[in-house]
Amino acid sequence: MNSYYLWTIGCQMNTADSERLAAALEQMGIEPVEKAADADVIVLNSCVVRQGAEDKVVSNLAWMAPLKKSQPERIVALMGCMVGPKSDELARRFPFVDVFMRPQQFGPLLEMVGDRLGVDWEGCVGPLTPSRPDVTCHVPIIHGCDLMCTFCIIPYRRGRQVSRPVAEVALEVETLVSRGVKEVTLLGQTVDAYGYDLPDQPNLADLFTRLNDIDGIERIRFLTSHPKFMTQEIIQAVADLPKVCEHINLPVQAGDDGILDEMRRQYSRAEYVDLVGRIREAMPEVALNTDIIVGFPGETETQFQQTLDLLSELRFDKVHCAAYSTRPGTIASRTMEDAVPEDEKTSRRRRVDSLQEEIQTEINARLVGRYEEVLVEGRRKGKWQGRTRSHKLVFFEDEAYHQGELVTVKIERSSPWSLQGTLAVEAKFLTR
Ligand code: SF4
Repeated sequence: MNSYYLWTIGCQMNTADSERLAAALEQMGIEPVEKAADADVIVLNSCVVRQGAEDKVVSNLAWMAPLKKSQPERIVALMGCMVGPKSDELARRFPFVDVFMRPQQFGPLLEMVGDRLGVDWEGCVGPLTPSRPDVTCHVPIIHGCDLMCTFCIIPYRRGRQVSRPVAEVALEVETLVSRGVKEVTLLGQTVDAYGYDLPDQPNLADLFTRLNDIDGIERIRFLTSHPKFMTQEIIQAVADLPKVCEHINLPVQAGDDGILDEMRRQYSRAEYVDLVGRIREAMPEVALNTDIIVGFPGETETQFQQTLDLLSELRFDKVHCAAYSTRPGTIASRTMEDAVPEDEKTSRRRRVDSLQEEIQTEINARLVGRYEEVLVEGRRKGKWQGRTRSHKLVFFEDEAYHQGELVTVKIERSSPWSLQGTLAVEAKFLTR
């Protein structure tokens, strides 16, 4: 038992879970391999937020059955949001899977691996910090979610909100810095709700302040925020603390009050617009991203038009748009008819994407000629690639080694998706 293969699909929380499970397996002396067929331990980390993601998990699981048959002593594990409180039905559908684990619940697999190795896993596994992190790294600070948006399965799979103490997060960030990390992204389903479940109720602004003091960390990001929890104190902390990037992911989901109500999002369109106004007043250069669901049960053309109007009015830096799909077990699946035809959902998604492409083209074109601070993350297609503080992807060419450096790049060309530039010798921050 000396190799593992780990496949991950879904959000950044799943990526973070996989990084931590990998750290645990490696602390037990098990090394990663590129192909499932070469592994003694196979883990699929699943997502069921959309039908497409679930279909991919099921299709990959089908590939695991013959692998298990060819080497029965191999361990096959299914982890993540596909695994609910009860796994009987999954065990019936996928009898070749040895262990089912809910998000962050690595114990059952580690116990099984420990038994095979003849060791007590709790004795070998220390803090689950990624052992070979990239320049940027995700740090979960809240697990679960206390809200009940009617379309969402996450609270049923990840449970109620549990925040990690400030000192524990700070220690993890210090460890990551010692391993070369320059940027952390603090993760939570409602990251701005951080702390209210902790005994002394620190908030996200308090956590930012503590992390901002850590030597060696250059940038701090956070996602995903919920409009209900985005306080003026958090906005001001983002504006004031030099290491916290002015980049906020603030899902609105829809532009019509009736749909927002049906989604149980707990804010109105006017409240959302007001919030965006206050954020932009505190940080005129802020980059705002949002998420949209089109084709929610009962969404009329007029209501969809409200979403398009909102996108035109607020002009986000990036929009992630998904067509509604029924998730069994959610409030919407039990109480609402998925009545918008699939071709209409596809058409609405395309209309959002097309409008947003125009907006992003204009926003990015305005950066041409400016000097931007870029954290270099690696190389792609012969060029260095990195991100601005506003999380825009930048490419530039240079012979020297720059991975992990903060450099200044003069933006020469733009597209809706990325920027191309040249390395500037002297730092000239005209944008901050
Ligand atoms: S805030 Fe709503 S959409 Fe986000 S995880 Fe919680 S229930 Fe799901």
